[in-house]
Amino acid sequence: MSTDLEAELQTAVEHRRNFAIISHPDAGKTTLTEKLLLYGGAIHEAGAVKARRAQRKATSDWMAMEQQRGISITSTVLQFEYRHCQINLLDTPGHQDFSEDTYRTLAAADNAVMLIDAAKGLEPQTRKLFEVCKLRKLPIFTFVNKLDRPGREPLELLDEIEQELGLQTYAVNWPIGIGDRFKGVFDRREQKIHLFERSAHGSREAASTVVDLGDPRIEELLEEDLYYQFKDDLELLEGAGSELNTDLVHQGKMTPVFFGSAMTNFGVELFLNTFLDYALKPGSRVSNIGEIPPTYPEFSGFVFKLQANMDPKHRDRVAFIRVCTGKFEKDMTVNHSRSGKIIRLSRPQKLFAQDRESIDYAYPGDVIGLNNPGVFAIGDTIYNGQKIEYEGIPSFSPELFATLRNPNPSKFKQFHKGVSELREEGAVQIMYSADETKREPILAAVGQLQFEVVQFRLMQEYGVETLLDLLPYSVARWVTGGWEALEKVGRLFNTVTVKDSLGRPVLLFRNEWNCQQVEGDNPELKLSAIAPLTF
Ligand code: GDP
Repeated sequence: MSTDLEAELQTAVEHRRNFAIISHPDAGKTTLTEKLLLYGGAIHEAGAVKARRAQRKATSDWMAMEQQRGISITSTVLQFEYRHCQINLLDTPGHQDFSEDTYRTLAAADNAVMLIDAAKGLEPQTRKLFEVCKLRKLPIFTFVNKLDRPGREPLELLDEIEQELGLQTYAVNWPIGIGDRFKGVFDRREQKIHLFERSAHGSREAASTVVDLGDPRIEELLEEDLYYQFKDDLELLEGAGSELNTDLVHQGKMTPVFFGSAMTNFGVELFLNTFLDYALKPGSRVSNIGEIPPTYPEFSGFVFKLQANMDPKHRDRVAFIRVCTGKFEKDMTVNHSRSGKIIRLSRPQKLFAQDRESIDYAYPGDVIGLNNPGVFAIGDTIYNGQKIEYEGIPSFSPELFATLRNPNPSKFKQFHKGVSELREEGAVQIMYSADETKREPILAAVGQLQFEVVQFRLMQEYGVETLLDLLPYSVARWVTGGWEALEKVGRLFNTVTVKDSLGRPVLLFRNEWNCQQVEGDNPELKLSAIAPLTF
C-alpha cells in the first residue's frame, strides 16, 4: 500500500462519524436535525430543512404522492463539518407508515441516536428500530427531547429504557426542573450547570450561561425545592455508581443519555460534543473473506437503498452506496460482485437534503449516490482488487400482507415485469402461496405506505392498474432449516405456509399469540423473524 494513501485513509476515518436518528414521528427529528446542521454551519437559519423540503415537493409527480399525503417518503443523507469532523447523518424517514428503507438505512450507519419525547417515553416505532440497532450492535446515544414542556420524571425514563430495552443507561447530563420550571442541565463531565434561557426560539446557535457546581449563584437562581430536588437527584446518580463505559457503549450495551430541547436549541451542542468524543468511527465490516478494515487500500462499498424517479424527467434511479474501504474517486471503474460486470462510476453524487452536488471523492463512512442503470440491487457489493462480498442486508419481518391482482389479462407481461423489478429494487417483499395453483403475488411489507408505492408505481411506470386484497396476517417467520425442517414437524395449526422470493418457507400468523403457540407446541421447529442471509 502506498503510505500516502494509507495516511490519507487513516486521517479520513479518524475524522468521520456517521449516524442515523431513530425516533417515533413527532418526537422532534426534523427539529433536531436542523439544529445539528446549524452547528455544522451547513445552514445558517433553522427552518431551512423544512423550507427545502417544501421547495422540493413541487418537483415531481413521485413527490406529488408525498405531497398528497403530506409526508416525506424519501430519505436523504446530510453531511456537515463540525470540530474538524465530517459528520454524515443518514436521515431515516420518520413517518408512521415507514418502510424497509428505514431498516436498511441502519445497515449503513455506524451509530444511532435514539430521540425520545420526554412526555411520551418509548414509542412503538422507536422500539422497532431499536431492535434493528440491537441486531447490528450499534452504539446508541439517547436524546430526551422537549424538556421545555411538561414531561415524565427523568429517572422514570431511564428506568423504562433499562427495563424495556435492556440497555444500561448513563446520564451524561441531568435536567433541573421540567416544563415551565425547566432551568437547565447539569453536565456531569465538566461538572457545570448550563442555564436555560427562554428566548429567541433557538433559530441561532444558543448562547448559554454556564456556572460551576459550587457557584453561590446557583442557590439564588434555583427555587428552593428545585435546588434540593437537584441535589437529591445528583446524590442518587452518583450513588448508583455506574461509570460511562465507552466499550459498553460501542458494543450497544450502554446508552449515554442527554436531556434537552431541540426546539429551543438547548442541550444540542453539549450533545454533539460528547457524541463526537464517544461515537464509533467507521470500522471494519464483515465480508466473505473476513473482516475488512476501512483503511484497506482498495475501494469497496455496498448498496443499501435504491431510489426511483427522484427526477421524473429522467426516470432515473439512484443507488445509495455506503463506502466501506479505500478511496472512492469519480469515474473510477469497479467490479460488481453479483453480476461480475465492470462498471464505470460516472456522475457520482453527494446528497445534501436531496440537492445533488457532484463529488470527486469519498471515504469510508461516506454515502454516495450513483445513477443506477438497473444493475444494482439492495445489498450488492462493489469493489476493486480481490473479490469482496459484504454480508447482505436481511429482509425484516413484514407485518402487512396483501394479494396483488392484475384484473386485465392483456397486461400480464407488464404486471410481472413490474412486480419483479420493484421486488429487486427492494420496494416490497414478494411471497407466493405454497399452493402452486395460486399464482398471484403476495406483497409483504413493514408499512402500509409500501403497498401504496407499489400500486402507484405499477400504474405510473408500467401502465398496470392493480387490485389489492389485504390478508389477515400480521406476523411472518422464516423456518430455519427450510422445507426439510418444516416437513419433519408435520401439520401445523393456525398458520399458513408461503414461499419467499428465493423459494424458502415462511409461516404467516394472524397474531403474535398464534406464533408463540405454534412455537410452544413444536419445540423442534426453529423460527426466525429475519430472513436468513445468503452471501
Ligand atoms: P418529527 O416528526 O420527529 O420530525 O418531529 P418535528 O421535528 O417535526 O417536531 C414535531 C413537533 O414537535 C413540532 O411541532 C415541533 O415544533 C415540536 N418540537 C420539536 N422539538 C421540540 C422541543 O424541544 N420542545 C417543544 N416544546 N416542541 C418541540
